[in-house]
Formats: sequence, structure tokens, C-alpha cells
Amino acid sequence: MKIATFSTHHYDEQFLNEYNTGHDITFMKVPLNEQTALLTKGFDAVCVFVNDVINKAVLTVLADNGVQLVVLRCAGFNNVDIKAARELGISVVRVPAYSPEAVAEHAMALILTLNRKTHKAYNRIREGNFSLERLMGFNLHNRKAAVIGTGSIGKAFCKILSGFGCNIAAFDIHLDPALQQSGVVYGTLEETLADADIVSLHCPLLESTHHLINADTLKLFKPGAMLINTSRGGLVHTSDVIEGLKSGQLGSLGLDVYEQEANLFFRDFSEDIIQDDLIARLISFPNVLITSHQGFFTKEAMEQIAVISFKNIDAFVANEELVNKVV
Ligand code: NAD
Repeated sequence: MKIATFSTHHYDEQFLNEYNTGHDITFMKVPLNEQTALLTKGFDAVCVFVNDVINKAVLTVLADNGVQLVVLRCAGFNNVDIKAARELGISVVRVPAYSPEAVAEHAMALILTLNRKTHKAYNRIREGNFSLERLMGFNLHNRKAAVIGTGSIGKAFCKILSGFGCNIAAFDIHLDPALQQSGVVYGTLEETLADADIVSLHCPLLESTHHLINADTLKLFKPGAMLINTSRGGLVHTSDVIEGLKSGQLGSLGLDVYEQEANLFFRDFSEDIIQDDLIARLISFPNVLITSHQGFFTKEAMEQIAVISFKNIDAFVANEELVNKVV
């Protein structure tokens, strides 16, 4: 197949080239959106990532250009207009689970860094400051952690939390009996958030989960709790969370995803003026830690993303059942 791959960095090229099963791939650095969709003329498929735009307008151009397949090299598909893809006869495949541990481990990295302030200690000591002032954290052992969404990543995260001796409460629309047996206690969102020292989001971005964390749900948090979002930015109402941080209702915040990340993440703006005032405000808090959607970014996950993407493409070419089909 002739495949146009969007939003590519050298690391995407490296892994996609290594595991290519014989397709003709063109790597483009630009994202797929209304402006770049015309570049797909002459291609059979597009390969895209989390912040590429696959809305009705883009899909219409893709269909006009003869593109038959959208290959998502990620799990989430909130950026795809599923109805439009179906109507236009374009198939969409994804990588449902490449390495849940990669994201779960990153969520724990955010928690440990925010809690034990190792990022501050690192900088202090490089400047000859060996003081412990303002570095005090809390034991994770015996603390209550709330896990919202216990699918592949949430489950891997629960295992990590239990290794730390946390009491784990969970909210999901589907209960996992194996997790229940291991001691995870499911409840309503209200029960799950109540008294939790840490709240970590692992559900997909859907209409039902959009702005799940907002001014009202923040009131259900234990004052001073930590919020971690490694799932999708749209789960969190950013300005409500900023108010929560200002009032102290939210004690700390770790974000690997951000609602307006498409304009910022994966690029270097170190010499530019950041125009996004919300992220500028978030960065100004001493108790906020932001990473730019790197939860997935391990060698193992990149290998799996490439391998499964090509399996999806090969199955489409062979007219076999598309096990990872979104549409
Ligand atoms: P999954 O489909 O295995 O699990 C999602 C879970 O959320 C399921 O158990 C589902 O029942 C639950 N859920 C659905 N609607 C819900 C609701 N309204 N309330 C509570 N729970 C609900 O997905 P996963 O592989 O665990 O991934 C979770 C999310 O993580 C993805 O949707 C994606 O947005 C995000 N993700 C982020 C990165 C990253 O690099 N930061 C990488 C991969 C995935």
C-alpha cells in the first residue's frame, strides 16, 4: 500500500521503517488537518497519531483522494468522526493496547515526582543547595488512590499502586472481577473520589467523560488531593482545575495530556512566546508537573505500535477480519 504518514518524528520513522512489512511509506512532519488533507492524493492509506484531525471535512478529502484506510498508531480515537468515516466507506484501525505498562508507569512517575519533589531536589543540589525545606512528601503506603477507568492501563496502574501498599478505589462502567479479587473496591464516582489522596484518570475521552473533572466534581475531592491525567486532556476542565489549585482544593496536578495540546505538544517552542495563557498559568504553579504526552514513549511501546499498525494494514490488504477496527 502507498501510505502517507503524518505527524512523524525521527523516532516514528525509525520504528515504522524497522517493522515495515513491505509498504511504500512517505513520512510527513506536518499533522493531518483541513490544510494538509490534500497531500493525500495518490495514497491508499494514511497513518496518523493522537493530535491529527480526522473530522468530516478531512475524511471527505481523503475519500475524494482515494484513501481507503486510516491507520491510527495510538489507542484513543476521540479525534475521529466515526459516523463520517462509516458514511464515506473509509476503514479506521487502531492499536488498542501496545504497552499499558508504559502509560501506567509514567502515571506513577508523575506521582512520585510531584510527591517527593525529586525534580526540585535535582536542581537544588546542582546549585549547591542541600536544604530539605519544602521537599516533604507523604508515604504512598496506606493512602487511598482513586482510579477512574480500569481498562488495560488502569489495571496495570492498579498493580503498581498495590505494590506501593495503596488502598485502591475505582470507578468504571464495567467492573473487573479480577481486580475486585485483588482488593480494588469499585464505587460510584462520588464514593471513589471521596477521601482519595490521589486521583488518576484512565478512561477514554467520550461525550460522557468530557470535562469529567470540573468545578463540581472537584468539590468531591479531599482538600489537597493530587490529580493525575495521563489519558486525554478533554477529561479535565482546565480553568476549573486552575481555580482548584489557586484555592488549595487541589493539592497538586500531574498532566501528561492537555486539552489544547494539539497546538503545543511534540514541538519545541523554547525560543517563542507561548500564546496559550492556560498552560502558561499551569506552568507557573510550583505544584504542577506537565509532560508532553510521553506516557506511551518507551522502546517496547514504540515497537508494539509499529508491529500492530503493520498487522492492521496487512489484514486490510488481505481482506481479512480487522480485529482492531474502529470503523
Ligand atoms: P481501555 O479501553 O482498555 O480502558 C478504558 C476503560 O475506561 C474501560 O474499562 C472502560 O469501561 C472505562 N470507561 C469508559 N467510559 C467510562 C466512563 N464514562 N467512566 C468511567 N470509566 C469509563 O483503554 P486503555 O488502553 O486503558 O487507555 C485509556 C486511555 O488512555 C485511552 O483512551 C487514551 O485516551 C489514553 N492513553 C494515553 C496515552 C499516553 O501516552 N498518555 C497512551 C495510550 C492511551
